[in-house]
Amino acid sequence: MRMTRLFASTLRDVPAEAEVVSHQLLLRAGYIRRVSSGVYNFLPLMWRVLMNIEQIIREEMNAAHAQELLLPVVQPATLWEASGRWATYGKELLRFKDRHDREGCFAPTGEEVITALGGAELKSYRQLPVNLYQIGTKFRDEVRPRFGLLRGREFIMKDAYSFHANAECLQKEYDVMADVYKRIFERCGLETKMVRSDAGAIGGDVSHEFMMLTKDDPNGQKSGENDVIHCDGCGYAANVEKADGGLLTTTTLDGSTLGYTEEKIVPTKKTTTIELLEKCLDIPATLISKHLLYMVNDEIPLIVVIRGDRNVEATKLKNALHTEENPVHEIRLATPEELKERFNTIKGFLGVAQLQDAIRQASPAEKRLNEALQVVLANGEVIPFLVDASVLGMKSFVIAHNKYDEHTVGFNWSASVAPLVEAHAQALFAVQAGDACPDCGTPVTVSRGIEVGNIFQLGTKYTEPMGYTFSAEDGTEQHATMGCYGIGVTRVAASAVEQHHDDWGIIWPDAIAPYKITVVIANTSDATQTQVGEDLYKALASVYPDNVVLDDRDERAGVKFKDADLMGFPVRVTVGKFAGEGKVEVKHRRVKDAELVSIDGVVDAVKSLLG
Ligand code: ATP
Ligand code: MG
Repeated sequence: MRMTRLFASTLRDVPAEAEVVSHQLLLRAGYIRRVSSGVYNFLPLMWRVLMNIEQIIREEMNAAHAQELLLPVVQPATLWEASGRWATYGKELLRFKDRHDREGCFAPTGEEVITALGGAELKSYRQLPVNLYQIGTKFRDEVRPRFGLLRGREFIMKDAYSFHANAECLQKEYDVMADVYKRIFERCGLETKMVRSDAGAIGGDVSHEFMMLTKDDPNGQKSGENDVIHCDGCGYAANVEKADGGLLTTTTLDGSTLGYTEEKIVPTKKTTTIELLEKCLDIPATLISKHLLYMVNDEIPLIVVIRGDRNVEATKLKNALHTEENPVHEIRLATPEELKERFNTIKGFLGVAQLQDAIRQASPAEKRLNEALQVVLANGEVIPFLVDASVLGMKSFVIAHNKYDEHTVGFNWSASVAPLVEAHAQALFAVQAGDACPDCGTPVTVSRGIEVGNIFQLGTKYTEPMGYTFSAEDGTEQHATMGCYGIGVTRVAASAVEQHHDDWGIIWPDAIAPYKITVVIANTSDATQTQVGEDLYKALASVYPDNVVLDDRDERAGVKFKDADLMGFPVRVTVGKFAGEGKVEVKHRRVKDAELVSIDGVVDAVKSLLG
């Protein structure tokens, strides 16, 4: 490829729309252009990177006996109704009607279509196991598309699905896929960690994510959207959405030790946050109870009480409340208006101090969610109430009572409520650094990570509702057991940039670079340089076909070097002022200084750099 023909223009300035490094560099280096929110053109350089990643995925998947196919992206609602996800998937599912008024959606993932296909074709245990995969466009109408290719709405995914006669067979395939994933990411030049994860919208029993751990960006922007909990003691690693952990017991949990021996109301002017309340009362957050009002599915109010120094983990909360009968699609914090309307209070002053006699075990007849407890208001309204495990052990603590500018201190649950709290508290808190590892007790650490892949043991989650059975070896009809395995191809590309760049631009891992080598003619008006450049271009292209770029532009050398660094080609051969003496410069993008190499030694020098 000649630079004079390449469809890629570089930008000198950092585009204002781009917050994270990968987004900035991919825009600046001419790899992507935005079409609309979360939707991009993948320009030729980008497409070559994506094809390289796809090729690695294909080789590894095929070697593990998986077979590639291609499923439709426009899918009928009927299939999604059969699995039950038409009702539960939420707004990420882009839905539409065709000219016959038939409802459909644009595929965010492919379990429904593949289960229907497997169900129709794989009727006997003799045909199992099978692993089928595709690489293609997905669409998810993300609430917050951001960070360029890291969280797009339209993106490319590899999704694989395996069918098995039983759980043991699935477990074997799952382990094989975990190894395949490790190899794929390694070959793509990505350092990843396999962590336990929550199965989310895909569902199923066991799942793991492959996380690329991110370093803190000096300008404070965090590209990793997940907190990963890990233990150096035993290797336990989990997404914070899934991580269990023990609260340390060294914190002050008994207010009487600070002199709060009796319950009383104290002024707490304008303490709308835990920090302000801590300062105002000079009491640690571990002695303050925090009440949060949520709205579930936009209509059902819910109160959660948690210790002041802790945060609710949204996925755990959703899992605690969700059932097939009462599905939870969305949970959000209540607005100031909703808080005022129900409790006539404002943020910072919500609390059940004077409502504790109205707390009861959730009555099955009035349950609208899977709540453990309920608070019955004076007007008869029943509000689901959840108690986080962090509240256990708190004595003589601080609690609000829905009145502005005051709190109750020295509070204890009454004799009738204390056992309810004790019996129904559940771990909803987000594990944080220093908490005890659930497996070995060592204090855990937390890092940020980008999820690049996810594997799931689905079990019969789809085959049961969709009625897929096969005849088993013993002659009975049974539901097939499934696994599924995803990799975000476009996210892998952006993650590679996050992990491999410097102040000047991208440093592509050799295996996925759009072109492996660039030959830069420093001065195209110098006939010798041009001739040597053209010759080397040919020589290198014969060893690395379709993998060499010749910078033959009539530009200043500095501009060409800047572009080469920005675009991130692994090896640069510079034909400059020593060309007349039969020498050119060769260097890898990773190192600063070039080596002076005789022209006939260039191919070998490049080979040794590319390995
Ligand atoms: P996330 O939690 O980041 O929204 P997910 O867990 O919903 O992702 P999966 O359903 O597990 O995603 O999809 C498989 C893979 O597809 C993910 O591991 C990720 O690499 C990729 N992926 C998912 N959503 C996006 C997106 N919006 N943009 C780019 N890649 C994505
Ligand atoms: Mg996932």
